[in-house]
Parts: sequence; structure tokens; C-alpha cells
Amino acid sequence: MDMKWWVIGVCIIVILGISGWIWQDVRISPSELLICHTLQEGVDGGPSLVFFGSKEETERYMNVLYGVKPFDEAKDRFTVSYIDSVVPTCELYKGIALLCYSRELVQQAAACEHEYIVVLQEQPAVIRSSAFKGVISLNTAHQLSVFAHEFGHAFGDFAEEYTPASLPSSSDNCQASCDDFAVSDGCYQGCSETGYYRSIDLGIMRSLQTTQYGIWHEAYLRDLLGVQGSSSITGNAIAPGDCATQSYSLVHLVKRDGKTIIQGVSAETGCALPVSTVETTSFQIFTDAQEIHALQLTGETFAFEGDLFIPVSGAVETLAIKTNGQLVGEVHLGATLCRA
Ligand SMILES: [Zn+2]
Repeated sequence: MDMKWWVIGVCIIVILGISGWIWQDVRISPSELLICHTLQEGVDGGPSLVFFGSKEETERYMNVLYGVKPFDEAKDRFTVSYIDSVVPTCELYKGIALLCYSRELVQQAAACEHEYIVVLQEQPAVIRSSAFKGVISLNTAHQLSVFAHEFGHAFGDFAEEYTPASLPSSSDNCQASCDDFAVSDGCYQGCSETGYYRSIDLGIMRSLQTTQYGIWHEAYLRDLLGVQGSSSITGNAIAPGDCATQSYSLVHLVKRDGKTIIQGVSAETGCALPVSTVETTSFQIFTDAQEIHALQLTGETFAFEGDLFIPVSGAVETLAIKTNGQLVGEVHLGATLCRA
């Protein structure tokens, strides 16, 4: 084992120990990274996606997104890569939705710079596609536009615009009053819950039979993308990063009965984002499917319980764990102090 990993590992053990955390395992498992194929290099701060699938599949789904406003104006901001050497293991969440989330998937995705992971797998059409934080699991038996819907959850933090569904408090596309939309295509009752309103009758967050989110959503997404109208905020092009030379900490949390405990931390090789805060209430699983002749999607949103794996780049010293914005714990990674 590389001496650097021993030093990082020992530092994590010492720092976690003196921080008073009770935790059960520290795994030091630098492993061979998979080959990452870069399809497109975007700009610093733009959305970055890694697909588990072929080049052709990745292009097919990205072209769906690029055909939707406002992503059509921001194609050059996306960083897109794919991994075609493994087939991730997925589960059928509650027997009804495809969910490809595991420690192994998070570790494999670290071969590519990314914020979002997209896994493609064919299932019977009744099995729903899902979005779980940055992990999008697409049933390839669904219309291609399901990708725009699930990316709306993952990137825009949009709630379902069909009813009934759960309404996350962080979502802004469903409002209690029509006056809360600065711009809109209209105002329609029913947005996750019957007492809330949506700004478009039939947008992507309600139906796969359309190719628009709505003008309220477009303005919201332009802000996130850093594009305003026809002018784009200039960003520096990202040089292709070599994730094999980078290190990160994989923080293992367990969420159960509304409580979150820190299970362990492992030192890993690969790319990760400089995440400094985890909001435990944000771990929602959106699950969706639309029958072929139906006008609207149906589905459910679940509050996730179980194992969570948070990759944190080597530059971050402390990961704050929050519930409803209140600090409930900290993981002291100390990687900066201890970098070999
Ligand atoms: Zn949905």
C-alpha cells in the first residue's frame, strides 16, 4: 500500500478519535479506477455528468436534454463523460422503482469529474425511473424525455407537478399562491399537493408528453446555469482532470428512524466535489413512470432510510451534517492538514 494512504488513514483515525465520534469502521481502500471517457468538456461550475452506458446512449440522452429550454442555450457549459466497462448493480426500490445507488457506484463514478451520475438499465415499463440526490436511474423502456424530468429533480430541485406527491420544502416550482411566480405560463391548482399551484399546465415535471419545463422553470434554470438570455457568464474551460491522481474521503452515514449516524470514513482515489455540508432531509427518492397513452406521470416520493455514501474532495477539512438547517454533527476529515 502506498505510504501516502497510510498517512491519510492514520490522520483520519486520529482526528476522528479526538473529535469524540463513535464510529465503527475505517476502510482504506484505494482501488483501480475505471477508464473514464470524456464526451464533452464544459466550463468550470457548469453541470457535470457521468453516464454508465455506451457513448451512443450517452449522446442520445444528452441530445434530449439539449433539445429542452434553457439547456439548448447552455450546451457548452456541460461536462459529460461515460463509463462503459461495468454494468452497475441496481435494485428495485420497494419493488417499484429502479434505484442504482451503492457504495460501489459512488466509488466507480469517481473515475470521472461529476456532480450527477446517470445509470441506464432496461426494465419492464411499469418499473419507475428515479432521481435520488445526484443519482439518476433511468429505465430505458421509458420515453427518452424521462431524463429531462429526472434531471429537473436532481439539478433544479423541482418537485413533482402531478398530484398526489410529496412536496420537499426546498422546491420552489410549487407555490401556495399564484402571486409567488414572478413569471409564468399561467397558474394551475395541483402541484405535488392539491393546495399548491404550478406555473404551467403541462410541463416536463408533470408529463413526459411535452418538451418544455415552463418559462418560470427556464428562468430558474438559467440562473443555476449561469446563462442570462443570450449572454452567457464566461467560464473557464475545464482541463481534463486526471482523477487517478486525486484523493477523496468517502463518508458513510446511516439514516434510520429520522436519525443520522456516522458509520465510518474511507480514503479513496478519484474525483469528488468539495462538499462541506450534508442536509439529511434532502435525501428524497423521486420515482416516476408514465403509461404510454397517459397524459401525466404518476409516482411517489420517499424519504430515504439506509446507507449513504458522501464523496468529499481532499481539500475539505470538515463535513457538517445538518437536519432542517440545524447542525447535528461534524466529520473532521483533516485531509488538508494530513496530506502526505
Ligand atoms: Zn418526478
